[in-house]
Amino acid sequence: MGRPGGRLLAMRNDAYYRAGRPVFSFEFSPPKTDAGFTSLYRTVEELKLLGPDFVSVTWGAGGSTRRKTVEIVIQIQQEIGITAMAHLSCIGSTPDQLAETLARLEGARIENVLALGGDRPPDYVAPPGAFTYANELAAFIRSRWGFCIGAACYPETHQLAPSPEADLANLVRKVKTGVDFLITQLFFDNADYFAFLARARAAGISVPIVPGIMPIISAANIRRITALCAARIPAELEARLRRVEHDDALTLEVGVEWATRQCQELLDRGAPGIHFYTMNKSPATRRVFESLRR
Ligand code: FAD
Repeated sequence: MGRPGGRLLAMRNDAYYRAGRPVFSFEFSPPKTDAGFTSLYRTVEELKLLGPDFVSVTWGAGGSTRRKTVEIVIQIQQEIGITAMAHLSCIGSTPDQLAETLARLEGARIENVLALGGDRPPDYVAPPGAFTYANELAAFIRSRWGFCIGAACYPETHQLAPSPEADLANLVRKVKTGVDFLITQLFFDNADYFAFLARARAAGISVPIVPGIMPIISAANIRRITALCAARIPAELEARLRRVEHDDALTLEVGVEWATRQCQELLDRGAPGIHFYTMNKSPATRRVFESLRR
């Protein structure tokens, strides 16, 4: 993707194809400790050797990592030299605080943001004027700034949506506010992605819908994450995990093999790229990525 920085997409929504090949991105989260920061930057440096098109940095639940998210994207883009995208969510911030964050990102030449609803903690009290849904945040960003805006979507339907139809109607509304591309929640069965893609296209959504893939690195970890986001582990994968879950090294092998097959089929059937959920670790993602390049 040339110089670091720059929009991932033009307003024409076709830049996921602009390079004439799939666009690859890696997602990281702000660490909690100083040691975590050292390890994060090491991981980013390692993955940089693979030539990702961009990396993204998550926004902590409740807005807790607002500053860290901003610092990390700026550092990755300006010092490590990879185009970086900041995630932002509605939770825990007033519109003024979000505006301050967006101004800081714009000042640092960060041009890409992922606008999210976020998950409300059980005792959540929204700050005055806070947005509730990602479409409101995306509209706010679009009304004042020139960022390229991404948003989330759910091949298996968002867990709080009353029905797949309602979730899709909400997605249509979100995209209409000026969202340039979508990244999916992680999924392990490509049939879910292709069925969702067909429904989204039939509903008039024409922006790129990028599969989000998480190579499994441990059984406990993936069980926790899939429970949180209500993603389904297909029976075949579950059976294979059960056979090896006592051993993290063997589990990682299963995860790498599954994710590689998933990505290969997605790309063969026209996916605009792959967004890897890295869990701040490089080995599994690197191996999947390297096999795709062969
Ligand atoms: P929304 O689009 O607001 O949707 C949330 C729910 O509300 C859905 O059920 C939807 O159908 C419904 N809905 C949407 N709009 C309306 C409306 N106007 N009226 C009524 N109902 C509506 N979380 C973080 O905290 N930080 C992160 O960095 C982060 N990164 C993510 C990256 C990706 C690629 C994905 C897929 C998820 C990420 N998440 C992150 C998780 C995300 O915040 C949660 O899944 C959250 O529950 C929904 O976010 P959303 O942006 O899809 O919200």
